Amino acid sequence: MEKTDILSLSLEELIIALDALGEKKFRAEQIFSWLHVKKVTEFEEMTNISLELRTKLSENFYIKRLNIAKRLESCTDNTIKYLYELDDGNHIETVLMEYNHGNSVCISTQVGCKMGCKFCASTIAGFRRNLAPSEMLMQIYMAEKDSGRHVDSLVLMGIGEPLDNFDNVVKFLRLLSAKDDMSLRHVSVSTCGLVNRIYELADLKLGITLSVSLHAPTNELRSSIMPINDRFRIEELMEACKYYFNTTGRRISYEFALIDGVNDNRQSADALLKLLKGQNCHVNLIPVNEIKEGVFKRSVSVEKYKQMLIDGGLNATVRRTLGADISAACGQLRRDNK
Ligand code: SAH
Repeated sequence: MEKTDILSLSLEELIIALDALGEKKFRAEQIFSWLHVKKVTEFEEMTNISLELRTKLSENFYIKRLNIAKRLESCTDNTIKYLYELDDGNHIETVLMEYNHGNSVCISTQVGCKMGCKFCASTIAGFRRNLAPSEMLMQIYMAEKDSGRHVDSLVLMGIGEPLDNFDNVVKFLRLLSAKDDMSLRHVSVSTCGLVNRIYELADLKLGITLSVSLHAPTNELRSSIMPINDRFRIEELMEACKYYFNTTGRRISYEFALIDGVNDNRQSADALLKLLKGQNCHVNLIPVNEIKEGVFKRSVSVEKYKQMLIDGGLNATVRRTLGADISAACGQLRRDNK
C-alpha cells in the first residue's frame, strides 16, 4: 500500500484518516500539533503517542523530508540560501532574509517553471512538476531549524508560478494559518498574471498580499519579455487586480524589474503612470538581476525612474538587493547545479 504524505493533510483530513484506523479525534489533533507546531521529522519523536500508534502511523504515512544539498551564507548580510534536494532527486531553492522587522523566507512552489519570462533563470532549467503542500511547508520548517531563526513573513517568489499550482498552494496556505505563529497577513504571493486564478484567489479572501509581476506598461513590450501576456492582456490583468483590491481590501504590489534600455525610460514611466492611475497600489522596482544566459542588463536609471513615478503620484520603492554575492535571485542556484 502506498503511504500518505501526512504533512500535506489538513486537520480535517487527518481526523478522517485516523478515524479509519480506529483512532479518536484528539489523537489527530495531537499529531497535527507535533507535525506543525513542534515540527518533528520522525514519528518516534511524538512522545505522548503510544508505540503501537506510532508503528501504525509509520505503516500508513510518511513525513516528507528535504535534504540540504547546498547552503550558502552571504558575507554582506545575513541572507542564507538553501538548495534542497527532494526525495525524487529534484532540486529547489529557498532564501532566508533578515530585515529590520524580522526574518522573511522566499520559497519555491514548483520544480522549474512553464511561464518562460525572458529574464528569469527559473525557466531555463525547465519545468518538472508541482510541489506538494508538504514540500512548501518543509522549506520553511527546515530553514528555521537550520538557522535557529523564527520566520515572521513569507513570500512565494522562488522558483515556479504559484497560481499554476493553485490547489496545492491554497492548501499550503491553509495549513500555514492553521497554527498561530504565521498570519496570512504576512504572506505575499507573486504571479506573472494568471488572470482566472487571480479572481479565484480574491474570492477565497485569505488575507494575503498579491504581488503582480508587471515589468512593462504596454502589451507590446510586455509580450516581448513575458509570454503570459499573449494569453492574458494587460487590460484583463488590470481588471483582475482591481477586483482583487475591491474584494479583499488588500492593495496590489506591482513588481517592475528595470532593464537597461528596455523599460527604464521616461516613455515607460509615463505609460506606467497612465496604466496605474487611480489604483491604490504599490510599485516595487527591482534592478534586474543579470543571469548568465540573459541579454538583459541592469538599468542604471533606477532612482531616476522611481522619482518619475513618485512625481506622478505613485507609491514606489526600490527593492533592497540581499544575498547578491550568493546568487540569491530565483532559479540561479538550481540552474548552476545542473
Ligand atoms: N512566477 C511568479 C513568482 C516567481 S518570480 C512571478 O512571476 O511573479 C518572482 C519575481 O522575480 C517576479 O516578479 C519575477 O518576474 C522576478 N524575476 C525573475 N527573474 C528576475 C531577474 N532576473 N531579475 C529581477 N527580477 C526577476
